[in-house]
Amino acid sequence: MKVLKFGGTSVANAENIKKVQAIVASESEEKKMAVVVSALGGVTDLLLKTADLAVKQDESYKDTLQHIEDRHLETIQQLIPITSQSAIISKVKQHLNQLETLYEGLYLLGEITPRTSDKIVSYGELLSSYIISEFFKVAGLDAALKDSRDLIKTNKHFGKAQVNFKLTNTNCYFYLKGAKHQVTVLPGFVASTVEGETTTLGRGGSDYTAAIIAGAVDAKTLEIWTDVSGMYTANPKVVKQAKAIAKISYEEAMELSHFGAKVLYPPTVQPVLEKKIPIHIKNTFQPHEVGTLIVQEDFKEELPVKGISNVDKIALLTLEGVGMVGIPGISKRLFEVLSQEEISVVLITQASSEHSICLGINAAETEKAECAVNEAFAYEISLNKIKPVIIESGLSIIALVGDQMKSHQGLSGKMFSTLGKNNVNIRAIAQGASERNISAVIDEKDVNKALNVLHERFFEEQTKQLNLFVTGVGNVGEKFLAQINQQKKFLKERLKLNIRVVALSNSKKMVFNESGISLSNWQEELAEGEAASLDGFFEKVKSCNLRNSVFVDNTANDVVAATYHKYLKNSIAVVTCNKIAAASDYQNYQLLKKLAFNYNVPFLFETNVGAGLPIIDTLKNLIASGDRIHTIKAVLSGSLNFVFNNFDNDHNFHDVVQQAKVEGYTEPDPKIDLSGVDVARKILILARESGYQIDMEDIENIPFLPQESLDAPSVPEFFETLKTHDTHFNNIYEQATEKGARLKYVATFENGKAKVGLEEIPADHPFYNLEGKDNIVLFYTDRYQEQPLLIKGAGAGADVTASGIFADIIRVGSN
Ligand code: ADP
Ligand code: ASP
Ligand code: MG
Repeated sequence: MKVLKFGGTSVANAENIKKVQAIVASESEEKKMAVVVSALGGVTDLLLKTADLAVKQDESYKDTLQHIEDRHLETIQQLIPITSQSAIISKVKQHLNQLETLYEGLYLLGEITPRTSDKIVSYGELLSSYIISEFFKVAGLDAALKDSRDLIKTNKHFGKAQVNFKLTNTNCYFYLKGAKHQVTVLPGFVASTVEGETTTLGRGGSDYTAAIIAGAVDAKTLEIWTDVSGMYTANPKVVKQAKAIAKISYEEAMELSHFGAKVLYPPTVQPVLEKKIPIHIKNTFQPHEVGTLIVQEDFKEELPVKGISNVDKIALLTLEGVGMVGIPGISKRLFEVLSQEEISVVLITQASSEHSICLGINAAETEKAECAVNEAFAYEISLNKIKPVIIESGLSIIALVGDQMKSHQGLSGKMFSTLGKNNVNIRAIAQGASERNISAVIDEKDVNKALNVLHERFFEEQTKQLNLFVTGVGNVGEKFLAQINQQKKFLKERLKLNIRVVALSNSKKMVFNESGISLSNWQEELAEGEAASLDGFFEKVKSCNLRNSVFVDNTANDVVAATYHKYLKNSIAVVTCNKIAAASDYQNYQLLKKLAFNYNVPFLFETNVGAGLPIIDTLKNLIASGDRIHTIKAVLSGSLNFVFNNFDNDHNFHDVVQQAKVEGYTEPDPKIDLSGVDVARKILILARESGYQIDMEDIENIPFLPQESLDAPSVPEFFETLKTHDTHFNNIYEQATEKGARLKYVATFENGKAKVGLEEIPADHPFYNLEGKDNIVLFYTDRYQEQPLLIKGAGAGADVTASGIFADIIRVGSN
């Protein structure tokens, strides 16, 4: 004999019930089957909600009741041929009338007992099993209905009654052995006391009903049909990469369900464990998928961690005080009082000093627990030997589960370092003596992130998801997005990096999409976004709370640069081509570096110097390998290089600068380049990254622009001055040409001092042949004393800058 159980979603409506019927019909070779069904999906919640409204004397309970009625009648109308409908509808109406009377009672009394509550919710399963059994018959199955309340006997613990297995096993065994029909349909969840009062087995208890029956009749298998294809490595609704576990031991399944894997009601394993009846979890909507087999087996060669689960709505109860040290019996008293109050303890930790005990309980029970424990220890509390109970709520437990965890070292280290790296604060830790699970209590808001990073670490080691929050979609930003789009596949396959752009913002709009903004069509998504605000953007990034988050600044904006510290403090990496932060006052630069270090998160700005050229990275590598930088000589302005390479007798200075701006080689305000400020910032950053404490005012800037240009209040006025001072520029050019030299704007750092200015470069100098918008840097170090280390290449332009940002993103990925 086989026992099959179909959950709420599987029987939520006529369409799904037809799928259920097809599955049962496909087992035609099976001589006998027990089919346990849940209430139509969501009906149990509706029944409880209606009761709550009635108790509060809110007339709208009638509307929800009507909704319950409609759902059932609609299902009948869609399943049963018209000619057979009336008898079934009239029976269902009878049930609904009884239900209505119960609700009227609640409305009048204004209160509800657990006994009445059980009576009310039982209608969910009573109605569904009746309708389904009638449909099975019209669909040609040899089926009959049996009320589980006649078979499953419990104590009077309404709401979550305990089963009397002796009576129940006998009832089930004899009834089903003698059953004349191939298929017996039974309502899940409901049971009764010996006196015949309706009880229930606890929320999600239909799984348990099926297991009780399977155990009693020594079924061949117990099939749990639900809306997912088995027990997954983590809740598939939260972790997209989760996979169904093919085989799992009873103990692992119990542990995962105890720690929140809702797909199986925790007590379900118990009735089938002794007889080693396999449990098969299958998907009603994908019946051909293999699902999960729960069996008694030793899976020695498997991964040590089988799954990760989470329980939400947890509170921590801490009892502490000097009066606890070395006094036996404190924990015993604590557990006794909790057990008397029927408060179940989900997790226990005790520091070895015995100075405190910390327990995880369901948040709904905190008040009851607090009162009971304070009362039980009132005497010690009055003597200040023990402090009144401390309660912290808004917490969740996440647990790693696996039989083989005990024979693997370092798993907890891996677990906690992964959580730490992602800024998930751990409030308490527990490890069962069986070492079948390691659990941690964390903030509820971190659960999503924690599950995903742990899943990545233990099951997808090979791929890493990076979540990008990008601000600035101008020249550089646009190219950057196009490059990611183009390289996505390669990165995933070759570098095992999965890059997702979660947010985009320009100065007007911002858009968030946790499943990733389409990179071929982002303009449209952004256009439909909400009004942009820097604070709003940050708050949203923070509340997304995604693992491996990276804030990407593609602007040149000082207000954006002033927000970096907030990101770093939340363990969000910062990648920027904006020079303002790294070139701001030393204290701020230092603070950002320190935050990055303390929060163990990258702060990268390679593109601040030489666009995509690996200048800062090389510098860092030199220093990390023990070298010391003495002198840096560089041409660092692609824009100025472009200008002076194109400026000659045939092209006037104004037009060349204009062209550089149009081609995107200058800052939006070209004065920043031409005044030397931009180059000064770059050499400042290089000096700082070489380990020197230096500020902008320490840099000597020898200007070549006339004062009037330097003072120009706007970009157009600046360009005007370039025209009026044409001769000035021509003179500079002539002087250099006469000496056979070329003009280059050079930055120098030597003996702890930096300077920038236009220089006449003779023909035998490495800078002489620098073409186009190229940059060049010479590093003179301990190791490179005579022949400097030279880096040269395109140092300006949106494309190379974008690729430099991209390279930083990849560095974050390999961090
Ligand atoms: P049913 O109504 O069929 O009893 P449930 O809603 O009780 O279904 O359980 C199935 C749900 O359990 C899934 O839809 C999924 O959201 C949730 N779930 C949580 N953890 C897991 C897990 N580890 N594997 C599979 N499902 C899980
Ligand atoms: N219908 C009940 C519930 O929603 C039992 C179950 O579906 O397992 O809790
Ligand atoms: Mg369930």
